Amino acid sequence: MLRRTYALVDLEKIADNIRELKRCAGTGVMAVVKADAYGHGMVPVAKKALQCGVTSFAVATPDEAVGLRKAVPEGMILVLSPVEREAYPVLIEKNISLCAFEAWHLGEIAESAKAVGKKARVHIKLDTGMGRVGLRTDGEMAEVLKVLRENPETLEFEGLFTHFATADAADLSFARIQLSRFCHWREMVLAAGFSPVCHASNSAATMALGAAHFDLCRMGISMYGYMPSGEMEPGLAKLSPALSLWSYVSHVKTIAPGETVSYGRTFMAGRETRIATVPIGYADGYRRALSGRGEAVLAGKKVRVAGRVCMDQIMLDVTGLEVKPGDPVLLLGEQNGLSVTADDWAEKCGTISYEILTGLTARIPRVYV
Ligand code: PLP
Repeated sequence: MLRRTYALVDLEKIADNIRELKRCAGTGVMAVVKADAYGHGMVPVAKKALQCGVTSFAVATPDEAVGLRKAVPEGMILVLSPVEREAYPVLIEKNISLCAFEAWHLGEIAESAKAVGKKARVHIKLDTGMGRVGLRTDGEMAEVLKVLRENPETLEFEGLFTHFATADAADLSFARIQLSRFCHWREMVLAAGFSPVCHASNSAATMALGAAHFDLCRMGISMYGYMPSGEMEPGLAKLSPALSLWSYVSHVKTIAPGETVSYGRTFMAGRETRIATVPIGYADGYRRALSGRGEAVLAGKKVRVAGRVCMDQIMLDVTGLEVKPGDPVLLLGEQNGLSVTADDWAEKCGTISYEILTGLTARIPRVYV
């Protein structure tokens, strides 16, 4: 690795978070490792989860599923949303579980399974209120059950699932409505003689909605050490962020009052000011919205971004600090009680920690401890 700007992923913290979430779930857990494990690296995270006894995984795309199968030769890999028809044969061949919820859709999967000569594993998705994908009526459920009943050689009804829209809110009333719809359709499925693995909980419901745990809880953001939202009670689970982001000082200088820093000259020194340049920028996922607002830990103190974030570099105001080229700079993480979190970035950027973590680009090497 030639670049000294990197993300350090502490896999032991992921292991601790998994143990904590298993305690909250009290049932099986599924590791959500889509989007390169929320920026942490899909394969290393999956291998650590396997070591922790996790045997079910979820991804978002067919390519992620195929990539993961190499690291997870056995065990369930579910693609959470519908995929292109062209992807069915390879996914079925690799025993990857497909999401389905329409009769015609199941018909196509069954055809593909017949051609491959192998049963397709399917999880039926219920839209209980998320409004994204999934079946929405008793009639649609009846049609789906009919196709499943008629194709026992090609379709294995492996799972039944839904997704909550507001389980991370202080008010769980809508989540409870979603839960009661899920229970209703689950009863229909059980009454029809099927017994799929039922899963509804994301991180938030894993921590806050015990009645929604069923057979498996899907843990995403919490496995990486973050609460899903600031509305949730922090005491629900003891989590620690697994990823820290490091760079170093590439250049230090003193500028005179009236001199400016970066594009647009938005930072003007009001006094003699020490400026440290750090080689990370928005092309790495260091968001431009952090211009003038982002914080970093350097020389044992919190310092602030001076002026606009550039594509590959930022400047920090380090006035009054002993700083020299080569000094390490912590952009995300915790050191000696000083921390900068993805939630801090998110608040400043008007977004959520999920987008910050998944937005760290491939240009940043991931290093594992
Ligand atoms: N389940 C589904 C269907 C999802 O789309 C996601 C994430 O977007 C998750 C589970 C994991 O959610 P979280 O990261 O909030 O745990």
